[in-house]
Amino acid sequence: MILPGKTIGVLGGGQLGRMLAQAATRLGYRVHIYEPATDCPAGAVAHREINAPYEDLAALTAFARECDVVTYEFENVPAAPLQAIEAVTPLRPHWSVLETAQNRSREKCWLRDHKFPQVKFAEVAAGGDLAAGIREVGVPCVVKTTDFGYDGKGQLKVMTEADIPAAVKRFAGQPVVIEQFIDFACEVSAIVARSPNAAVRVFPVAENIHTNHILDVSIVPARVQPAVAAQAEKLARLIAEKINLVGVMGVELFVTRAGEVLVNELAPRTHNSGHWTLDACMTSQFEQQVRAICGLPLGAVTLLSPVVMVNILGDAWANGEPKWDTLLAQPNVRLHLYGKAEARPGRKMGHFTVTARDADMALELAQKYQARL
Ligand code: AMP
Repeated sequence: MILPGKTIGVLGGGQLGRMLAQAATRLGYRVHIYEPATDCPAGAVAHREINAPYEDLAALTAFARECDVVTYEFENVPAAPLQAIEAVTPLRPHWSVLETAQNRSREKCWLRDHKFPQVKFAEVAAGGDLAAGIREVGVPCVVKTTDFGYDGKGQLKVMTEADIPAAVKRFAGQPVVIEQFIDFACEVSAIVARSPNAAVRVFPVAENIHTNHILDVSIVPARVQPAVAAQAEKLARLIAEKINLVGVMGVELFVTRAGEVLVNELAPRTHNSGHWTLDACMTSQFEQQVRAICGLPLGAVTLLSPVVMVNILGDAWANGEPKWDTLLAQPNVRLHLYGKAEARPGRKMGHFTVTARDADMALELAQKYQARL
């Protein structure tokens, strides 16, 4: 066990690192953040912030020497240099988990090899025959770059054969995966934690609504059949076990109209769709991450109240500062802002949660408050 008082190192300095640092310091840990850009959201609430490139092996090694355990909060940290950290300090989750999850091709092949249900897909290497790949999967489909994809970045929907030439032009020279387009009933996510002694806990499943490919709202409990929620939780647990997770992982899933649950994506860190746990769960996903990577007992995942989380994007600043007073005047709302100076469209600036007697009521109120912001 890595006990309170020890130092947790975090690669990446965004909001996930910030909320992790807040949870860790509450438990008495020291937190060091490693992030290329200065003045990051996590550094503002940590004991130390180191600014250096992720490829700087000397800086990574020096960082690791000061930490008792290192984790990551950002999926696009290059995986190979992380082996330098592992030589000095435990890295949790293991770098190979990140390597699998950060590349769509490797992730899908791993899921296929371990027989997890997912949408039909094809891989096309850089310079390969994209048109043939699209015909193999069939239209409509979604073409996605294999690297550095998140929030719908690097994706193109191909509706008909007539769209193929545009897709070929757009992705020329890039490795991609092609996925069958799913007319899903809804999207859900299950966040799972696993500790070094193989204890596993899965948070209650969230129902997620995306707008322009970015998470807009998470609803808990998810408004799905109990068997669907149970299947999502089971898949998350099995994935955590098979991939030998130590830490927290977000598993995004599609629920088809026939009630089938398909894995969409894995993120070996806390997840945006788990922010509600800060305000409506016995243990937050960030505290659970601390417990998991430090080998402490995992916390209870009991839901304390139905809850809805709403993301606050930079777009909310289009007409000046959002009207925070309209939110803060509500007794059932909690506001979280990440301390980011510049509000760009699509940038995640904060979130708020609304608790209510049931999920539908929480959603109705959340949408009303969101419109007033
Ligand atoms: P991703 O970055 O792959 O999670 O995609 C972002 C969002 O785009 C997903 O959460 C879905 O809302 C949508 N999306 C991605 N892939 C598909 C697909 N194969 N079929 C339907 N919608 C998709």
